[in-house]
Amino acid sequence: MGDYHVHLHPHAPRPDSPPPGVYPRGHVDAYVERALSRGAAEVGFTEHMHRFVDLESVAAGFWNVGDSADLTERSRQYYYDELNLHLDRYTEAVLGARDRGLPVLLGLEVDFLPGRMEKILDVLAAYPFDYLIGSVHWIGSWAVDHDGMTDEFERRGVRRSYEDYFGLVADLAESGLVQVLAHPDVVKKFGHRCDEEPVDLYRRLVDAAQRGGVAFEVSSAGLRYEALEPYPAPTLLRMCHEAGIPITLASDAHYPDQAADQYRTLVRYARAAGYRRRVRFREGGGRELVALPDPDHDADWPTPAPA
Ligand SMILES: [Zn+2]
Ligand SMILES: [Zn+2]
Repeated sequence: MGDYHVHLHPHAPRPDSPPPGVYPRGHVDAYVERALSRGAAEVGFTEHMHRFVDLESVAAGFWNVGDSADLTERSRQYYYDELNLHLDRYTEAVLGARDRGLPVLLGLEVDFLPGRMEKILDVLAAYPFDYLIGSVHWIGSWAVDHDGMTDEFERRGVRRSYEDYFGLVADLAESGLVQVLAHPDVVKKFGHRCDEEPVDLYRRLVDAAQRGGVAFEVSSAGLRYEALEPYPAPTLLRMCHEAGIPITLASDAHYPDQAADQYRTLVRYARAAGYRRRVRFREGGGRELVALPDPDHDADWPTPAPA
């Protein structure tokens, strides 16, 4: 089993976090060690695309839309605060770990910025990514999963926020630009819920994912926030299973000790929705379906590492 969504640099550094763009000896290894101890067999690194200076010329300015000068300014600030990584150094750090024999894959978390994707993928094509995951973090100028902009939920209304969010995720799913949809219902991150579960929006997304041939990520990150459940929600994940959409497993770790976070819970969650297989990416591209382990019956499932 793989943890296919892992970051090497956090948004909020801890005292032991390396400075942005620096990959000290043992840093990649610490993530891999922790993930393996929790039952993962490989780690796919997927740093945030919007943090790389290499993409500034094609990404910057996407926040100049909509009618909120305030959101525009906050997103501009957030973008430039985090614009401090370099694709060369990142790929070297991950591929260097592979050369040392560690089971790692090179990926990237690509922000869906409509109208800019062609140019973005042109830049990325120069790098040997094994796979790309795609995320909707911005609805126009609103960073929907940023804890400094949650006031927009009140302004827009929860149901409309969900409609706007799922509309973009469906476009991304159908686009064929990425292999995996990351945290497919991250709009629930801070606990905002529609009065009625938005099954109509789920349906449109699942249909779009089917047409686009994209996998869904099942992520334990939601357990760390007010959402209090993995992404995607149980109903949405069951609909995916019925539609034959494959899954990956992910932690969205931003620190080594979050690698393969709550994997036992996560695998049980995927199995409860009916899944018995997950996607494995190959070095250099391509995917296959492999068995999902069973933490309750497999003798070789590791005992959980101490927190
Ligand atoms: Zn994300
Ligand atoms: Zn992420």
